[in-house]
Amino acid sequence: MEDMILLQKEVDKSLLSQGMSIPSAYHRIFCEKIGMCPQHGEKFKLKILLDGILYEVELINQNFDQRVYPNHPDVLQIRYSGRSGLPQALQVKFPKTTSLVREFQANPNNSRRQLSIPDTDKEYLILYATPQKGVLLAETISNDEFVAETKEIVKIPEMDYELAIDKNATILIETGFKKVRRLSRAIGNSLKSLYRYRCQICGQAIGEPYGSQLIHAHHIVPFTQSLNNDAKNIMVVCPNHHSIIHDRNPRFDWAARMFEYPNGFREGLKVNQHL
Ligand SMILES: [Zn+2]
Ligand SMILES: [Zn+2]
Repeated sequence: MEDMILLQKEVDKSLLSQGMSIPSAYHRIFCEKIGMCPQHGEKFKLKILLDGILYEVELINQNFDQRVYPNHPDVLQIRYSGRSGLPQALQVKFPKTTSLVREFQANPNNSRRQLSIPDTDKEYLILYATPQKGVLLAETISNDEFVAETKEIVKIPEMDYELAIDKNATILIETGFKKVRRLSRAIGNSLKSLYRYRCQICGQAIGEPYGSQLIHAHHIVPFTQSLNNDAKNIMVVCPNHHSIIHDRNPRFDWAARMFEYPNGFREGLKVNQHL
């Protein structure tokens, strides 16, 4: 099932009312997995299956003016109207974000502001491809579920946790960690495939000569502290670089996309398509 993941989205106001965009780094994988790809300006009808009900949505490759924005990547979006019933169903599945959005909108001082959802209140929608062409399966993780599943995680050493995601590790099963683990693993796998099992730091696919896809997914801000499993917090690294990172605990300089080690050594990313 994890191999079929298309997208993991943090729930926000747009997702609860009209749709979501697909980050450009994922366009290729998304299109490959659903077996269709709208060209610039095209749209297709899709169906999203949520709790046994099929909702009609559109997959749109937005028709912006390419003469004005010649280097802008495609803008791929899933859109739905209120009439489809999907926004209403999503609002029921994501009560935390729904109430945060309502509270925010009720305050006239916020009319020109964007709501940003705190890490501790996040909820997630996961979309999977299905064997039926044009039908996507939706899974939801409400904030209550996320908090309940991750309560024990903070006690696990970070690298043990990261390596355990990939295996049927008993520490995670014992803690009742199901949806979130599957989600973390799916996001990690989709990034590993995006980089074709190469380390973002040294650019090497160390398993390649051996026919192995061995590579690790590392959380920039430790997951066991932040509970942030967004792709923007995950990096694909070889086991050597991963061990060095956890041994020396370098600071990640976001502006320069570089690690800065306690001894002053700085190292950037050879490969980066998503950070
Ligand atoms: Zn490496
Ligand atoms: Zn790590």
